[in-house]
This record gives sequence, C-alpha cells and structure tokens, in this order.
Amino acid sequence: MKTGGKTFSRGVPLQQKFPDDMLFGDTPRIGITFFGSGSRGNAALLHLSGSFYLVDAGLSCRKIETGLERCGISLDNLDGILVTHGHGDHIQGLGMVLKKKSLPVFATSGTFSEISDAGIIVKNPVLIDCKREFELGKTRVWPFPVPHDARDPIGLRFESGGHTLSLATDLGHISPRVLDYLIDTDILCLESNYDEEMLSNCRYPSWLKSRIRGPFGHLSNNGIRGVLSRFKRKLVSLVMVHISEEANTPALSMEKVSPLLSNNEFCTTRVHIAKQDAASPTFLSRE
Ligand SMILES: [Zn+2]
Ligand SMILES: [Zn+2]
Repeated sequence: MKTGGKTFSRGVPLQQKFPDDMLFGDTPRIGITFFGSGSRGNAALLHLSGSFYLVDAGLSCRKIETGLERCGISLDNLDGILVTHGHGDHIQGLGMVLKKKSLPVFATSGTFSEISDAGIIVKNPVLIDCKREFELGKTRVWPFPVPHDARDPIGLRFESGGHTLSLATDLGHISPRVLDYLIDTDILCLESNYDEEMLSNCRYPSWLKSRIRGPFGHLSNNGIRGVLSRFKRKLVSLVMVHISEEANTPALSMEKVSPLLSNNEFCTTRVHIAKQDAASPTFLSRE
C-alpha cells in the first residue's frame, strides 16, 4: 500500500536498504536473499516489488530475524511464508516464527501434513495446488512438482512484469517438466548438492549415498549444467544452493559451470554459491 508517497509492507515502515525503485517505484521487480542454504537449514527472503515472503523456514527463528534485520525489515514486514517441502532443514524454524508472528503459510497438502507431523501449528494455511498458478500481489507464481523424497515437494517460478525467478532447492533429477519451469528466467536458484567422486569417498553410510544420488534425492553438480545448456536468453543471476558440506566444495561446483560462462547467455551472469552459515547478497531481476 502507498501512504504519503512511501510504500509500507503490512503497514510497518521499512528501513530503506534496497534501491529506491525496488521498494518504492512502480516497476515490478523480483529479488532474493538467502539467509543460509544446505542440509543444516534453508531460508530465503523473496522480494516482490515491496512485498516480502520467506521461502522455507529451516533456520532458527533467531537466524531468520537476523537475516531480515540485515535487509532492513522484521517479521512484521513479512507477507507470508512459502514452504517447498516438509523436510526438517526447510521447516525447523517455522514453529517459532509462527509463534512470534502468525503469517499465512503457502504449501501443498503433502507438505502441510509433514508440518503437522512435526507438531507445528499453522493457523493461516494457504493450499498450493501444483495444477494451478496463483498470485502474490502483482506477481504470478507457478508451483511445480519436483522429484524428491518428501510428500508433494515443489519448486517455484515467479513472474512480475516480465521479471522472472525460478527456484528448486531439493530434487533428484531434472525431468522435462521441471526443466520447462526452470529455464529462461532472470534469476535461477538451483541445487548443486554433490560431486560424484566426493560422495563416493565421503564418510556417509552407503544407504545415504544411494538416497542422495537416487532419482528422488539430490542434484549433483552435473545437473545444473544440463539446465544452463537449455537457456535461450541472458541469465542475470545464478545462485547455486544446498551445497553439501561432506560431498562437495564451492570450487567443484564452480568448476562444472565455468566452461559455460563464456556463452552469450551467461557472459554477464552474476554467479554465487550460497553458504550454509552466511547470508548471500540480494539478487535482483535487473541489476
Ligand atoms: Zn529435502
Ligand atoms: Zn533440503
């Protein structure tokens, strides 16, 4: 809403830490800031032209609040929480966040059942149906099913005035349908979980290695290459997420995409590897 020329989110004044036209202008923009990403917890702040949503709440409430504070906002400025799936590393801070601030939670019915099994009470659930796109303000959202061993896990694609972002944090492989939702966006946030050789040699038990590399587990460093090779337009930002601390290194993840970065689509792309214990910069649909 607009009051006296200034935009407020949920009626709470914002400290101005983003570019003017991100928060206060009429130009739609999309942005994302990761507060932490990996098997110990995931949460990101989605900026949708002055509205703010969390994507997953798998970090502690304290860490989420610190991340929000760094972005110049608080829980009071959030408009809702989108949950991709119900694994602990995506929901473990959700209960505490909701105790402090009762926000709408957007998730599939399978994810809501996992949230409920974890003993988390959601007073304001908003059901996501993967067959239906929906709107968050002026932003159109396409949820899409991803192959991962949770109940109804999803990836998300956002579009607002020609600005686009796609995100898939946990998935065992890239199906043709998933590929369609991921490609040709301004910002691509995609899992780059493990290096094949490091996974084979790491200390994980063999059942866990099989789960990770299975079709409903996690995406290796090779997965991202296949997605990038299908891009037909310039990618503004690539954020590689959910990097394994046991079976991968940032250097190995980067090694896989480097040969593609001289291609026309990626010669100006900002490439970032999200860390488990540190917040990322904010990535905007137009830099
Ligand atoms: Zn998962
Ligand atoms: Zn995860």
